[in-house]
Amino acid sequence: MLIECRSITAGYNGSPVLENIDISIGEGEIVTLVGANGAGKSTLVNTISGLLRPMAGEIHFDGKRIDQLSPADRVRMGIAHVPEGRQVFAGMTVAENLSLGAHTQTSRAAADLRSERMRELCDQYPFLHERINDVVGNFSGGQQQMLAIARGLMSNPRLIMLDEPSLGLSPLMVQEVLNLVTQLRERGHSILLSEQNARAALAIADRGYVIENGRVTLSGKAADLLDSREIAERYLGVG
Ligand code: ATP
Repeated sequence: MLIECRSITAGYNGSPVLENIDISIGEGEIVTLVGANGAGKSTLVNTISGLLRPMAGEIHFDGKRIDQLSPADRVRMGIAHVPEGRQVFAGMTVAENLSLGAHTQTSRAAADLRSERMRELCDQYPFLHERINDVVGNFSGGQQQMLAIARGLMSNPRLIMLDEPSLGLSPLMVQEVLNLVTQLRERGHSILLSEQNARAALAIADRGYVIENGRVTLSGKAADLLDSREIAERYLGVG
């Protein structure tokens, strides 16, 4: 497994939100976290990226324990986090937003590497190339989300975690963003996708975990979860 969370308990101000969470993501997998608003999905993603320290449990990435490392160290090791709400800078251009990604070092060599990575991303993803000097302020929510994902790719992560990328997007844009997620896997990234939009997310995933009240209540192959009556009733709007 590329990453393993073992018995993670995490929360805020001493009160646990997540209890005893075990999840793993293999190399080249798309894994989806399904759960209602407030179930604890963002808390888990934040614990993996290092924004939040777990109260108990361990996280292992590529065989190394990482749960006490800083967020920047985790980025350098190959973990990228695209937070909920996109958080792109509206007054800046696409290029300026991208250059803020992977900004864990200020040296000249690091800046050169960032420029090279930006060129590589523009070659791989035409939507960046076409808009590279445009100011982001007038972009649609979907375009901003694609840019937020691209910024996460600046560090060329082995694992990229996307927190609610489809939030507030039209059905067409949801599909575009999920197509991009599928392309990420084709380019060798492993993906953790946190989504309330369970059906669309499971449709592109290999496996999924259902989180309810801070616990994993169901997990398995995405296709099996899509077929499960329990999931259908609770998360897919089927009675
Ligand atoms: P959402 O889709 O709303 O992000 P989620 O499944 O990601 O839902 P979390 O954001 O992880 O859920 O929230 C889980 C619980 O933790 C909620 O009860 C929430 O109120 C609480 N919580 C989240 N962030 C904080 C914080 N900074 N301080 C205190 N409590 C928090």
